[in-house]
Amino acid sequence: MHDKLFTPGPTEVRAELLNELASPQIHHRTEEFRKLYDELQIYLKKLLFTENPVFLFTSSSTGAMEAAVTNGVKKRCLCLVNGAFSQRWYQIAQQNGVPCDRVDVEWNKAIKPELVDEKLSSGKYDAVTMVFNETSTGMMNPLKEVGEVIKQYDDVLFLVDSVSAMAGTEIRVDEWGIDMCLAGLQKAFALPAGLAVASVSDRLLARAEEVEKRSYYFNLLNMYKYHQRSQTLSTPAIPHLFALRRQLKDIIDIEGIENRFKRHREMAHYVQEWALEYFDIYPEKGYWSQTVTCILNTRDISIPDLNKELVNKYHMRIANGYGDLKGKAFRIGHMGDWTLADIRGLLVTINDILSLK
Ligand SMILES: *Cc1c(COP(=O)(O)O)cnc(C)c1O
Repeated sequence: MHDKLFTPGPTEVRAELLNELASPQIHHRTEEFRKLYDELQIYLKKLLFTENPVFLFTSSSTGAMEAAVTNGVKKRCLCLVNGAFSQRWYQIAQQNGVPCDRVDVEWNKAIKPELVDEKLSSGKYDAVTMVFNETSTGMMNPLKEVGEVIKQYDDVLFLVDSVSAMAGTEIRVDEWGIDMCLAGLQKAFALPAGLAVASVSDRLLARAEEVEKRSYYFNLLNMYKYHQRSQTLSTPAIPHLFALRRQLKDIIDIEGIENRFKRHREMAHYVQEWALEYFDIYPEKGYWSQTVTCILNTRDISIPDLNKELVNKYHMRIANGYGDLKGKAFRIGHMGDWTLADIRGLLVTINDILSLK
C-alpha cells in the first residue's frame, strides 16, 4: 500500500492516470503527435479561459518561471514577494542577470493592489512577477484585482506563477490580463512531476523579440516556432502528455470545470473550519488558499511525530511548515482529485492521533 499524499505537491495521482504513462510511445514529429498537441491546446485553453497558446515545458515549474523573466523583461522587473516561491522568482531573475527589484510583504499578508499601483507609478518597471497561490504559506493573493491595476500600465507584463492553483481554482487569463500563467502538473492537476505548462500572450512574445537572448531551451520564440507546427522544440515528456490529455478530458468533459472548482472550495472550507476549531490559520483572513491550508501549530505538537504516525499506521502524509515556518505550522494539501470524504478521513485520523475532541 502506498502513502497517500495530502501534501501540497506532489499530490496523489489516480491509477488511471499512472496507467497512461505506460502507453506505447509515439514519435514527436508525426501526425499522431500533432493531433495530441492540438487536443491539449484546446483543453488547456478552455481550462484557463484564454485564446493564448499554452506551451509545454519539459521541466518542473521552476523552468517556466525562469523562461518568464528571461523573456519578458527588457527594462526592469518588479518581484512581489510574500513567501518562499515568490522569493525564489526574484532569485531566478537575479541569477539570470535580469534587472529586478523585490518588494516584500510579511508572509502572512496578501499582496494588495494599492501596493502594486504605487510601485508601478514610478515608471521603472515593464514586468511584474506574482505567485497566485503561495504554497509555502497557504495564501491566495488577489490575482484578479492586481491584474486590474497592471492593465492600467500599457507596457507592463503580468507574469503569474499559478503552480498550486491551476486546475484547482478559477483563473481567467484573458479577462484578468495575465501575460504568462504557468504551472507544474504535480500540484492541482494531480499528475506526476516533470512537466509544466504556461499560457503566453502576444505581448509577451513581442517583448521576447526585443530582449537579448538568454537561453535556447527556455526561449519562448523558439518554442512558439514549433508551437505553430503543433510540435515542441525538443523531444517532450511524451508519457506525461498522454496522462495530461486523459486528465484534461476527465476535468472538462466528465467532472466539469465549475464542479472541480466547487469541490476544491468545499474541501478548503472543511479544512479551514477544522483548523479554526483546533489550531489557527497562518495567513490573514480573506486570502485563504483553496488548495492548501497552512495551519499554525498553536498546540505545540510535534509535527514530525504526527506525520510519522500518519505514514506508518495510516499511509497518509501531510507537510511540515516551509522554511522558517517549519515546526511552527503544518500544511494540508486539499487539491487535485481528493474528495471531501478523503479529507474528512484524514482529519478524523489526525483527531484520533492527537486525541482532539
Ligand atoms: C511547487 C511550486 C513551485 C516549484 O515547482 P517545481 O515544480 O518544484 O519547480 C513554484 N511555485 C509554487 C507556487 C509552487 O507551489
